[in-house]
Amino acid sequence: MKVHTEYLHFHTKTHRAYIHITPQVEEIVRKSGVKEGMVLVSAMHITAGVYVNDNESGLIEDIDQWLEHLAPFRKNYKHHETGEDNGDSHLKALLIHHEVIVPITAGKLDFGTWQRIFYAEFDGQRDKRVIVKVMGE
Ligand code: ZN
Repeated sequence: MKVHTEYLHFHTKTHRAYIHITPQVEEIVRKSGVKEGMVLVSAMHITAGVYVNDNESGLIEDIDQWLEHLAPFRKNYKHHETGEDNGDSHLKALLIHHEVIVPITAGKLDFGTWQRIFYAEFDGQRDKRVIVKVMGE
């Protein structure tokens, strides 16, 4: 079995951001030479996530509003007793989850028509990483 690992680096200008990363993952799969297998794409942080959904700006705004509704920014999280202020960022990351696995068939991401990969940042303006691990033959 072949295994190929790379890291994507992010430092968003905004506190929250949703970044389309399908082209970067496709390029890493191409470089790996894997034709049949899978790729793991995983945020290496507790306040960021990776998800698969539609690349459509209105939907991204809806997802952001939905997350803010379920895990609103507020001052009185227990987590803030440690001196932190990002309780909502942790909860938003839990809702999105931190990783996805995408099948590779004939050397390509084997996606449905509208599926794309996104990095979701919930506590940005600092250095963050995503691991991309391609496994297969
Ligand atoms: Zn925290």
